[in-house]
Amino acid sequence: MPELPEVETVVRDVRPWLIGRRIVTLTVGTRSLRRPWQPQWTAAVVGTRVIALRRRAKWILVDLDTGARLVIHLGMSGQLTTADADVPLSDHTHFVCDLDDARQLRFRDVRRFGSVELFADEEAVAAFLAARVGPEPEELHASTFHEAIRASSRTIKAILLDQRIAAGVGNIYADEALHRAGVHPQRRGDTLTFTETERLRAAIAAVMAFAITHRGSSIRDYVGGAGQRGAFQNEFRVYGRTGEPCKACGTPIMMLRVAGRASHFCPRCQENPK
Ligand SMILES: [Zn+2]
Repeated sequence: MPELPEVETVVRDVRPWLIGRRIVTLTVGTRSLRRPWQPQWTAAVVGTRVIALRRRAKWILVDLDTGARLVIHLGMSGQLTTADADVPLSDHTHFVCDLDDARQLRFRDVRRFGSVELFADEEAVAAFLAARVGPEPEELHASTFHEAIRASSRTIKAILLDQRIAAGVGNIYADEALHRAGVHPQRRGDTLTFTETERLRAAIAAVMAFAITHRGSSIRDYVGGAGQRGAFQNEFRVYGRTGEPCKACGTPIMMLRVAGRASHFCPRCQENPK
């Protein structure tokens, strides 16, 4: 599933092709995405000009000059790209905007857990996001982050996957950040010290920034906005490395299911003191 670095990479790739372009026509596939496209949205989008492309958590926001906002989520397998209009569409392309320069914005999603929606204005988008996501990783505040973790008896892995605590962190980057911080994924939030939550806060921001420089991680379907794969999967310290030596100490990496998710960790670097 694309997490923050993958979504950020898509936004950076697509942005230069989209800013200033007018949307000439819009075509929506017959098979529904996770949230169905409303027919009246088409008329509200056609003829508008794109003035900005942004990311918030794992959401992609396309600002239109009417004030309306297209809000896109890649779900499990969504791919947002631009291409010349004469390049044939791939199977599973569900949403196409023809632009005024003979290019197209295309949304392809094999598993259809992604979505494309229209919001009337910035206030509507802000309210939608405020109910779902907390601060971006680089904006996490030391004491707020610490208190949110300390207030929970859930495992730290479950807490990190909660988008209201830290936006954009998913299974891969939670595991990678926990290893960098030396925190076992099964630790209860209310047992973490301030020193540990500070290490974790720094690790989350660092791993996200580092992953963006590698254009994210391609495990299955993920590609950037120009169609190419990411490279951060080659930098993983723990994720998907069960049985392989820890890059810090050589101990074989272990895997446990925590919060319902496969969680990879080093039993030596991330001791569980309980
Ligand atoms: Zn280790």
